[in-house]
Amino acid sequence: MQYLPGRPQDPDALRLELLRRSAQRELAAIYSSVLGVGLIVALQWTRAPTALLLAFVALRFASLVHNHWLARRLLRLQTLQQAGTLPLRLLVGVSLAGFSWGLPVWMVADIPFSGPDLVMVVLPLVATVLMLITAAYWGQAMVIFVAPMWLTVGGRLAQESWSSAWPLLAGIAVLLAVVIIYGRQLHRQSCEGVAAELLSRQLSNDLQLANARLETALQRAMDLATRDPLTGLLNRRAMIERIEAEGSRLARQGQSAAVLLLDLDHFKQVNDQHGHAVGDEVLRQCARKMLAALRQEDLMARWGGEEFLALLPGADRTAAMQAAQRLRAAVAAVQLATAPTLRPTASIGWAPWSPSQPLAGAIAEADAGLYRAKSAGRDRVEPAI
Ligand code: GH3
Ligand code: MG
Ligand code: MG
Repeated sequence: MQYLPGRPQDPDALRLELLRRSAQRELAAIYSSVLGVGLIVALQWTRAPTALLLAFVALRFASLVHNHWLARRLLRLQTLQQAGTLPLRLLVGVSLAGFSWGLPVWMVADIPFSGPDLVMVVLPLVATVLMLITAAYWGQAMVIFVAPMWLTVGGRLAQESWSSAWPLLAGIAVLLAVVIIYGRQLHRQSCEGVAAELLSRQLSNDLQLANARLETALQRAMDLATRDPLTGLLNRRAMIERIEAEGSRLARQGQSAAVLLLDLDHFKQVNDQHGHAVGDEVLRQCARKMLAALRQEDLMARWGGEEFLALLPGADRTAAMQAAQRLRAAVAAVQLATAPTLRPTASIGWAPWSPSQPLAGAIAEADAGLYRAKSAGRDRVEPAI
């Protein structure tokens, strides 16, 4: 995902998130409405006509099961396209619920209400106010719930004389007006809130992705700047920096080191007889095997064409000789399937290095050793004199 400043929020993602939250609120309403059903049944058990009570319970039960199932499915959606007709079906369930919550008023024998009957009209009032929570995410759902509920209530009130029904009708009208005004306001604010939340989630994802890319690019840039592309060993410049850092550490600990200069023998002939690609492969394999023959704390670089430099921190004369012989053996062990007759060898010169002395001096001494190794017939190790 690419970050474009000020990119507008994806409307499908916003709609899906609003649907999910509506489904969550629907589940909460389903669980709490069981209490309301229990209360109505308890209050009207011996008062209301049995058929009406049964119709109410059956309608509530059908709406609960239907809406519960739909809400659970809505919560599992990954994209808006998967939603299909689920939102529409949930709206049908919500309107059924609205209708069922209007029914209790039909259980009332006399209006104006009193005692337990009062609860029958208070419950639709409570349900209307609670629907504000749904309206926050889904305006249609509120209308589709509240309208059938109050139509059912109104149907019962219409049977009364105008003088006894009008105060209630006026109260309901005021309540509905207030709820609609607040519902619209709440809906607008919730949408803005959810949109902002989604955008911030998206930006934080984008930021993480950009950071990861940046880190990879930085690592790659560091590798390009410090590594030899053919062998993967440190390049000359990076090696000098690492030796300087290592020198400070050795100086603090009062230790010295050994510098080894290694040059592959008759490498020009390798290229001439087997080709440049084989020469490259020999360089790669030598680097790999030599690195494996060194300790973790030793440093090795490709110093020039077929020349390598190693720094062995803390190595005395014996350790330096042994390490040099291990490197010589590592080169001798290189074998290529593409050139089975090829047996590379290396000549090595080495010198001790104390961090208080210039590095160039030790390298020049190692180079003198290397020269003597070449003169003495190659494939051998020579210390500085
Ligand atoms: P000596 O034993 O005296 O070191 O002989 P040599 O042939 O190894 O030395 P010389 O300096 O004459 O030749 C070095 C050769 O290394 C020449 C050059 O083509 C080859 N070389 C340097 N870098 C590379 C490389 O990256 N790949 C390949 N294939 N060859 C390289
Ligand atoms: Mg050479
Ligand atoms: Mg050379």
